[in-house]
Amino acid sequence: MMKRILITGGAGFLGSHLCERLLFEDNDIVCLDNFFTGNKDNVAHLLRNPHFELIRHDIVNLVYLEVDEIYNLACPASPVHYQFNPIKTIKTNVMGVINVLGIAKRAKAKILQASTSEVYGDPDVHPQNESYWGRVNPIGIRSCYDEGKRAAECLMMDYRRQNGVNTKIARIFNTYGPRMALNDGRVVSNFIIQALQNKNITVYGDGSHTRSFCYVDDMVHGLISMMNSADEFYGPVNLGNPCEFTILQLAQTVIKLTKSNSEIEFHPLPADDPTQRKPDITLAQKKLGWEPKVILEEGLIHTIEYFRNILKKA
Ligand code: NAD
Ligand code: UDP
Repeated sequence: MMKRILITGGAGFLGSHLCERLLFEDNDIVCLDNFFTGNKDNVAHLLRNPHFELIRHDIVNLVYLEVDEIYNLACPASPVHYQFNPIKTIKTNVMGVINVLGIAKRAKAKILQASTSEVYGDPDVHPQNESYWGRVNPIGIRSCYDEGKRAAECLMMDYRRQNGVNTKIARIFNTYGPRMALNDGRVVSNFIIQALQNKNITVYGDGSHTRSFCYVDDMVHGLISMMNSADEFYGPVNLGNPCEFTILQLAQTVIKLTKSNSEIEFHPLPADDPTQRKPDITLAQKKLGWEPKVILEEGLIHTIEYFRNILKKA
């Protein structure tokens, strides 16, 4: 039977790919977004499909919907955007998550929370596995997001224990790909846009800090696998690509692939910027039979192609 699936934040980068894939798999999709960082253009190609609905709504306010499954992605993900209105960011992760859990409870829907590697903060365990509790600054400029997402995980677990809601938590590590917004501000889209425009590449710090980058198609597959896994497996589970790169290596790779004349320019490292990050994905491999397939260069080539086209039109 066709499932009705709510995707909050569905007009964003990850959400729009999830909408597309789940619609293609013959589900009925309700895409809900307040368009803070998302964009109607990301889902414009789905609007004519009778099994796709787009709702402008902010999850901080109540909404009543009848659905079978919920992917809760609503929340700005880029530091630039989540720090723009930090109080709103934490409201989205607490009041918003309570509202979305309310839908799950009333409609008896299964709910998957898009959590983040940021729950590990600036980690002193490397690579990060799910039993590590993290090293998060509770009062810093990233805490509206980090602590917000930690509170959201707490809410998922308490609604499960207290109300029997069928919850699942996926901790997403840095993911990139087509449909990241031009002004997103995260490292992959920043570097690609700068390289394509032959502008200086802005490396924060000395470029020795690391991230592990996952291509969007792999992530969407991981999120759906988690949603469809046995009810007894509710996570949290790490989803990400364990291949780790320094930010300088990323800059050099982007310059090489775009054949750009850009030069690297060093800027101060923002406060509380984690120095290293790499997922231990043993649990996802074991429980979901999932691991990423797309290597960095291949994913970057697709993403560069996307931005080349967008910049031509802009
Ligand atoms: P994004 O900014 O492109 O998408 C977020 C979407 O949520 C946007 O469409 C935005 O308009 C919408 N939104 C924000 N606040 C809302 C609110 N109050 N009500 C309704 N809609 C709201 O970012 P993304 O990379 O697609 O991230 C999606 C989710 O995945 C986020 O929850 C993010 O925290 C999580 N995540 C992403 C990454 C990553 O690397 N991409 C890593 C970790 C976690
Ligand atoms: N970064 C950078 N230049 C940029 C944007 C980001 O050097 O133009 C660095 C940032 O300081 C961080 C890493 O790249 O160390 C990843 O940043 P991003 O904002 O993509 O995500 P984060 O993992 O920090 O949430």
